[in-house]
Amino acid sequence: MGSNDTSLSSTMEHRLWVFAGCSSLLGMLAKSAAGIETSSDAGLSTLAILSAYVLADLATGIYHWGIDNYGDDKTPLFGPQIDAFQGHHKRPWTITKRDFSNNIHSLARPATIFLVPVLVATPGSGPVDAFLGVFLGCVVFSQQFHSWAHTRRSQLPGVVRALQDLGVLVSTRMHGKHHREPFDGNYCIVSGVWNRVLDSSGVLRLAERWIYSNWGYAPRCWSDSSPEWSQQGSYFED
Ligand SMILES: [Zn+2]
Ligand SMILES: [Zn+2]
Repeated sequence: MGSNDTSLSSTMEHRLWVFAGCSSLLGMLAKSAAGIETSSDAGLSTLAILSAYVLADLATGIYHWGIDNYGDDKTPLFGPQIDAFQGHHKRPWTITKRDFSNNIHSLARPATIFLVPVLVATPGSGPVDAFLGVFLGCVVFSQQFHSWAHTRRSQLPGVVRALQDLGVLVSTRMHGKHHREPFDGNYCIVSGVWNRVLDSSGVLRLAERWIYSNWGYAPRCWSDSSPEWSQQGSYFED
């Protein structure tokens, strides 16, 4: 997806990371279920699952805002993701042509690295394990939800269309605004429920001004004419 990366196919490495990530996520959910002993544990775990789903949307929004606006492909650690998201703004529809593992492996990798030690070295706790499994699951799969938001409705499976219409997954209509001027909002890509909060509260503009006044870094969204926003091709596949 990056400016320099034109490959849309999954490699064996991509598939292995996705397999490891999905196995770790399922392991967390199994560990969570095994840790539920009382009805109060079950209640807390349900609350944890709902909170994780809601907060994962906020996390994707803040992360997406960060990598859309700061750094470049040479930034330590985050460079490949920054490059990928800048490439996505130039050629949005290509995300729908990515193989599944090609699209989500870069999120499956850190999730696996975090989850494996948690799985093997921490005592089981139903609610905590449920929170971590669902939160990281939503974050890892957010790139698939993002891809569906770039797919024409007529080409989406009926269940995905229904989930978008219900607001369970971010919709094409909502995410489409992210790819239009002034390129400074609608960053969340799980359900999109936090987009209104982040955009209407002005909290991101406040953070941008704080970063600029303390460190001198201006975000890319302050300039609509920044080359990073110049789109080559359409939101959907032509
Ligand atoms: Zn973006
Ligand atoms: Zn997009």
